[in-house]
Amino acid sequence: MSSPLRSPVDVLVTIRFFDAEAAARLEARGYRVIRADIAYDELDTKITVGIERALETAHAWILGTPPVTRELLERFPRLKVIARRGVGYDSIDTAAVKSLGRLLTNTPGGGEPAVADHALAMMLAVGKRLGESHQRMQADDWRAIVGGELFGKTVGLVGFGRIGRMVAKRLKGFDARVLVFDPYLDHSSAEASGVTQCGLNELLAQSDFISLHAPLTPETDRLINTQTLALVKPGAILVNTSRGELVDETALLQALEAGRLGGAGLDVFAGEKDPGARGIAQKLLALPNVVGTPHTAASTRESLARANALAADCVAAALDGLEVPRHCIVSDGRVPQAA
Ligand code: NAD
Repeated sequence: MSSPLRSPVDVLVTIRFFDAEAAARLEARGYRVIRADIAYDELDTKITVGIERALETAHAWILGTPPVTRELLERFPRLKVIARRGVGYDSIDTAAVKSLGRLLTNTPGGGEPAVADHALAMMLAVGKRLGESHQRMQADDWRAIVGGELFGKTVGLVGFGRIGRMVAKRLKGFDARVLVFDPYLDHSSAEASGVTQCGLNELLAQSDFISLHAPLTPETDRLINTQTLALVKPGAILVNTSRGELVDETALLQALEAGRLGGAGLDVFAGEKDPGARGIAQKLLALPNVVGTPHTAASTRESLARANALAADCVAAALDGLEVPRHCIVSDGRVPQAA
């Protein structure tokens, strides 16, 4: 428990949808929750002047996807805990966190069910051509559009971690055959999950739906590009709920325009971080067989509440000197306390 005599310890929160219950978990332990403005249209990827000002006093920061660089950590030595609400941490310099003695946590178990639901929703929406049907009906055009089924199809999952596994579980209800490409997966684990492990090229050639669930790393950056798209089964549907940078969007646009791909469901775009890439995103979104959402796969009421609570608990535990949930620790440079 916190001491009533200590001076206020600030926890900066720069995420939208941080609920009152999560704030109360911190305030009940004596921490002061401060908020800094996020420019809504910037999708939480910028360090604003307001954030910089708040970082002067903050001991912990609950954040989304703004870049946390070594330079930023060096500028704000008081900041001890960086708590990412979400799981992807490609925007954070994890080596700097460690070498500068800070702690980085994330919230596994928070958003995964929502992202897995979203991937399925996109497979169905694009396969059944829901967007096109809806647009036609808005124009009082009642002609039927013929879509395709997910039932009984081959679905290729690139990455078989928490979200990939949840997608596979849901696909059982569709009698789908699930192929998995994940170089870090052991054979017995794939077998136990009832999926078939294979190479990327085989997955691309055989899958009717390809769904990306790998983190953004140097290995996965533009994994889907002109060369790999050339291997895709004609008419296949690509779903991306991982990170926009896994896909070369210009190559994707060309493949869709050429009719090689049947469609795409995209929750993530390079344009989230790079305003120069917004133009290509708009071209993709203008296609009738593309369904887009603005990085909202994990944004359900339930998922946000779970992740907010977990981020708050990680911060409180770390600031109180208690044990932080192990599965939430991404990078830890803190000096262990003597027993
Ligand atoms: P996870 O760490 O549990 O699983 C990732 C899997 O990808 C691991 O099994 C890993 O072995 C595998 N992998 C690593 N490198 C690979 C490669 N080169 N090729 C194929 N597989 C590879 O992560 P998760 O919780 O399943 O999340 C996956 C990704 O989804 C996150 O990294 C994040 O970028 C993204 N995500 C997006 C949202 C959203 O709102 N759209 C929300 C949560 C997560």
